[in-house]
Amino acid sequence: MLYTMDGFLVKCRICNTEFAMPDMGPCTDLEFQSYIKDSGFVCKCAKNDWELVQ
Ligand SMILES: [Zn+2]
Repeated sequence: MLYTMDGFLVKCRICNTEFAMPDMGPCTDLEFQSYIKDSGFVCKCAKNDWELVQ
């Protein structure tokens, strides 16, 4: 997991859109995907198939 000053990065597996997550501590895939969904952010392909950037 790559940490930045703002938290860590996730990206869409399909279109490689990156999204910087705030550091929420340990979280599951479902938790960060629901966070992005709640934030209203949509990736380029609109599939929102997020994974953590290693
Ligand atoms: Zn995408």
